[in-house]
Parts: sequence; C-alpha cells; structure tokens
Amino acid sequence: MPGVVQLFTHPQQARGRPGLVVPKRLLTGIADLIFPPRCCGCGRVDTLWCDRCQRSLERIPAPRHVQPLAPLSGMASTAVHEGLIQHSIWSLKYDNGRNMAGPLGRRLAAHLSHLGWPVDAVVPVPMHINRLLERGYNQAQLLAEQLAQQAALPCLPDALRRWRFTPSQVGLGREERLANVRDAFEADPAQTRDRTLVLVDDVYTTGATLSACAEALLLAGAAAVYGLTVSAARQ
Ligand SMILES: [Zn+2]
Repeated sequence: MPGVVQLFTHPQQARGRPGLVVPKRLLTGIADLIFPPRCCGCGRVDTLWCDRCQRSLERIPAPRHVQPLAPLSGMASTAVHEGLIQHSIWSLKYDNGRNMAGPLGRRLAAHLSHLGWPVDAVVPVPMHINRLLERGYNQAQLLAEQLAQQAALPCLPDALRRWRFTPSQVGLGREERLANVRDAFEADPAQTRDRTLVLVDDVYTTGATLSACAEALLLAGAAAVYGLTVSAARQ
C-alpha cells in the first residue's frame, strides 16, 4: 500500500492477516514529538540550523594567516577552531550533522572567491574505508561537494584514496603526525594531471594530512595544490 509503513510484523501477519499499519506522515510526526529537531548551534528546538546561528556564523572573522606546509601552494581557513565553528564541525562529524555541510560549505565558497587562487577542481581529504563504514559519510567530502556546487567547479571525490589506515591524530605532535600520514595517500593521475586543485578538509591542525595529500596529488601530476579548511587550530 503506497504511503503506508508497516509498524511491526506479527507472526499472524505472515499467514496473511492484515497487520497494524500507520501512515508514514503520522510516524514522522510522532518521532518529531519525541525527538524534535534541534539546532546544531544553540540547541533551539524545531529547526536543524537556526537563523540566529546562521547570522553568527556569517560574522565570524577569518584568521589572518595560516602557514602553508610544503608542498601546498597556499593555505587558508575560514575561522579559528573555537566557539560556534568548533561546535558546528563537531555536529558535522559526530552528530549525523549532514545538515551542517550547507552553511559550512557556503563559508568555504565565500572565502575561496576572495583568495583568487586559480583552481579548477575541488578534492576532499579522503577517509579510510574503515572509518567511512563506521561514520557512514566523509565530512570533508560533504564540504567539498557544497563548495564545488557554490563555486561552479568540479568535485573529484575519487581523485585521492587513503589506502593505509592511520591511527587517530589526536594527541600527536607535529612530527608524529607527519610520520603517521606519510605515504597514506594515493592519487589517480587520470583525474589530477595538470590540474590546479584545492584540497578541502574540516579542520587544519598541524597541516600534516593536507601536506601528505598534496604530495600524492603532485606525484600524480597535479600542477599545484592549495588547501582550504573550515577552521584552523589557533597557532
Ligand atoms: Zn541555533
């Protein structure tokens, strides 16, 4: 029956007796009553991202300068990793916050338009398949897709592959992080050769991951690689 969801299956139903059916709209309504949508920024009920948080997000200034680590041709972040930005990224990563990709992706696009980098495609920092299966999505890819759409650039989610599983970077120093991710990435020359690319990630900490990604892309023939993240750890 179209538009109707079977709430549960009773053994008797298997023998052909009609079961309890509840219209899908009603189920969604009940779910919203028990678990009302809440704003990822302030927790306000009834919306996943409120206007007030959107206005606050737009007012957050960009850090003056983020040091690019070789071999990146340039590096920029749209904000310091604190407050509402930190909260939004946490939502994007852990709270099934796919709805945060739009507002954060628009920040990336607005920032990129001011940078004047001659990029011709967007590449997300890839996630290892194990972590992808665990989380269900790669937040860097969601951001890259939003940025690509806003900036009218192609998005190349398969240009780069993380083939070696790297332990979490949390708690590691800069040198340890570099050693941790070196050689963890592999790029596809067919997608990257002679292109000027912008690598996208959520947070810039030491730059070790972006630097390793850029190295792989350049090895595969990319003309130049820039790095852009939503936020950067205070340096
Ligand atoms: Zn809010």
